[in-house]
Amino acid sequence: MDARCMKCKAQKPMAGAEMTKTARGGFMAKGKCKDCGCGMCKIMSEADAEKAMKSGEAKKAF
Ligand SMILES: [Zn+2]
Repeated sequence: MDARCMKCKAQKPMAGAEMTKTARGGFMAKGKCKDCGCGMCKIMSEADAEKAMKSGEAKKAF
């Protein structure tokens, strides 16, 4: 999945994405920018989060 990298200032593919849950019950993918290795995260809807976990794009980490 793509997320915004603060360092590259662009949408970049996320490497090693892990799906976590926020305190408010939302979903958040955490990973690293494939290009610069900078940490990045992306707020996900429940539907998108489940899709990403099913397809293997993101590992379940909660
Ligand atoms: Zn980057």
